Amino acid sequence: MAAKIISGRELSAQVVEELRERVARLKEKGITPGLAMVRVGDDPASISYMKQKSKTAAAVGVYSETIVFPEDTPEETLLAKIEELNHDPKFHGILVQLPLPKHIDERKVIEAIDPVKDVDCFHPVNVGKLLIGEPYLLPCTPHGVWQMLLRSGYSPEGKHVVICGRSNINGKPLFAILIQKKAGANATVTVCHSRTPDLARFTRQADILVVAIGRPRAITADMVREGTVVIDVGVNRVPDPTKKSGFRLVGDTDFEALSEKVEAITPVPGGVGPMTVAMLMWNTVVAAEFQAGPA
Ligand code: NAP
Repeated sequence: MAAKIISGRELSAQVVEELRERVARLKEKGITPGLAMVRVGDDPASISYMKQKSKTAAAVGVYSETIVFPEDTPEETLLAKIEELNHDPKFHGILVQLPLPKHIDERKVIEAIDPVKDVDCFHPVNVGKLLIGEPYLLPCTPHGVWQMLLRSGYSPEGKHVVICGRSNINGKPLFAILIQKKAGANATVTVCHSRTPDLARFTRQADILVVAIGRPRAITADMVREGTVVIDVGVNRVPDPTKKSGFRLVGDTDFEALSEKVEAITPVPGGVGPMTVAMLMWNTVVAAEFQAGPA
């Protein structure tokens, strides 16, 4: 039987609607949530992600500015800009688009952002708050994955979730979200990585399988069982001469084959990607509400 397709486009539109209402309430108090987005260099994927973020910000009613520095910008210049943005009351959220050029220390830059404005939720203070079960914000992609599960009727509560990938932006924080002692979380979570022997032994045990490894179509139909809900975080460019760009985007799973077998699956594109952007706006609104203080 064909799987249910969990559409990130539809679910993110729902989130955008909800956020518009919260933004309207803030605007009644004279507050327009503001998001500063900083990019260094002209990486085509980064440009495209940032365009999407600006578009969604406008749809939600968030004021956004994109600040672009040339590729050879010294680290100190970037750090000075972040310091300025930390003190600029127009902006409730600051994000620095990654990856940064090699000569800039990514960690130093992330740690320079005021944790209150850290809408990517990469600052160690915010990562720590999440891990002790008292989150201020949630990191965008894992939060998007969680919301997709909740909003499509596949709560992770009491389920065995297998995550492939242990990066700081995906696997690790998703683990921290799903093991929270909290309604809608309370999952039993297994995290796999490149040193996991016999990956299929684990993926076949999943009630919910989340894949974030950056390997095109690595998860094949024989690695999953019927009834599994699959969330594909991967975004990979593969050559496609029929496309004007010369490439197309595919996920980390063999979508066509898996969708003949599993209970539900997210497409790529149109899956986790739009939810990630919606969650960035969610964080900007939360940060603006927090900075506005009690009503
Ligand atoms: P990353 O930092 O490269 O981490 C990849 C993780 O996958 C690592 O933990 C690695 O293990 C593990 N891994 C690699 N090959 C594996 C294999 N064959 N079997 C099992 N585990 C394996 O990547 P990332 O930044 O998390 O991104 C992962 C994917 O998600 C990429 O395609 C990226 O483009 C996509 N992404 C999508 C969104 C979105 O909004 N949709 C957002 C962010 C990223 P080790 O730790 O042992 O190296």
